[in-house]
Amino acid sequence: MTITDTDTTTWTSQRLKETDKEYVIHSWSVQGKLDPIPVAGGSGSWFWDYDGRRYLDFQSQLVNLNLGHQHPRLVEAIRAQAEQLCYIGPGFAERSRAELAEMMAGITPGDLKMTFFTTGGAAANENAVRLARHVTGRQKVIARYRSYHGATAGAMSLTGDPRRWAAEPGMSGVVRMLDPYTYRCPAGHPDPCPVCSGGPHLEEILRYENPETVAAVIVEPVTGTNGLLYPPDGYLRSLREVCDKYGILLIFDEVMAGFGRTGEWFACDHWDVVPDILTTAKGLNSGYVPLGAMTVSTRISEWLRDNMFWGGLTYAGHPLACASGVASLRIMQDEGVVENARTMGERLGAGLATLAQRHPSIGEIRGRGLFYGVELVRDRDTREPLVPFNAKGPAAAPVGRLLKAAMQRGVYLTANFNVLRLTPPLVITADEIDLALGVLDEVLDLADEHY
Ligand code: PLP
Repeated sequence: MTITDTDTTTWTSQRLKETDKEYVIHSWSVQGKLDPIPVAGGSGSWFWDYDGRRYLDFQSQLVNLNLGHQHPRLVEAIRAQAEQLCYIGPGFAERSRAELAEMMAGITPGDLKMTFFTTGGAAANENAVRLARHVTGRQKVIARYRSYHGATAGAMSLTGDPRRWAAEPGMSGVVRMLDPYTYRCPAGHPDPCPVCSGGPHLEEILRYENPETVAAVIVEPVTGTNGLLYPPDGYLRSLREVCDKYGILLIFDEVMAGFGRTGEWFACDHWDVVPDILTTAKGLNSGYVPLGAMTVSTRISEWLRDNMFWGGLTYAGHPLACASGVASLRIMQDEGVVENARTMGERLGAGLATLAQRHPSIGEIRGRGLFYGVELVRDRDTREPLVPFNAKGPAAAPVGRLLKAAMQRGVYLTANFNVLRLTPPLVITADEIDLALGVLDEVLDLADEHY
């Protein structure tokens, strides 16, 4: 066995790049095509590379760093927990775990009560689906096409986006429904559309699937990864009503949209609709330590008192993760983080509306809080997308160029095909929002060239 030199002073930018290229497998990538920026540190809404070049993180990394980089209170909470107890198995009662579970019952909507802590979003969804199957005694799960629920086997089967293809055939019993994508109604309907209004589409599917075989419907109340889609008012409620009618459990995946991202604690709070199971991760502790959660209704909590929970992870309820969760929720409350997301979101929304007057390539702006999508088109009348769905290589280049130009100007952005994702940390300031809007104004010229 060879252990290489661990003297950190020799880790130059060049050495880091070479070692990374040789040994690290990065997610969702052809490894040989990668050239990742060697990151040296971060603070608040910013991170910087080894050469001191600073980037405004207008993504919150994977939309998880809601409290920004290196929040001092969060770092301190992890340090304090590490000094007290780094690890104890999930079978023991541990303070940060119990405290966080109690806090979750306090902030989650309706009668959601008990929580199972996982290592991330995918594991929360895996457990939610398995539990729904056990509680109902049914097998099928209805999920949507424009969804991302995680990259483990079951969660990837629930996921609708093309990354699922590489994992097929996957978990059995998943039935798909269409999304309320009102800008491009997948059924081509004008308003009012049975797909975009939710319940009628679900009921039509159930007619052919046999509702008595369906355990759960799982949706992201606001679709994150796959295009920032906000459902029309009434959509989630109509899903709720159909689920209740047939004894089907409703699972809301708020891994991305939860914890203030949309300007409310949870996205479903905008419409006052309560799921039977809520899955979360990311903003729960800003991802400083891997953490996810599955929180279940009082009825399911009661069911669990007398029935086996067939789930477990070595790191379920990891003390370092839970301690960071407790600190994170306190910080959010003390620092008015949800309110800041709302106010800064209004500023961002107003700025984007002004940009739309100057840039014809902006087809639609969707957002609340700091969860914005900007859909880019070649023509506002036909709504032809700037790059088509699932575009790769040269077909995806117009958006790729725009993202690169933003990065060169010090603003980190990403996109889902033709939809720019604007999801900065919830602690962002007005000046930082304005800076990003200024850069967007410049780089959108590149999109306008295709108009
Ligand atoms: N669900 C949603 C809505 C997500 O956005 C993600 C990740 O982006 C996941 C689940 C998977 O979470 P994780 O990567 O922590 O497993």
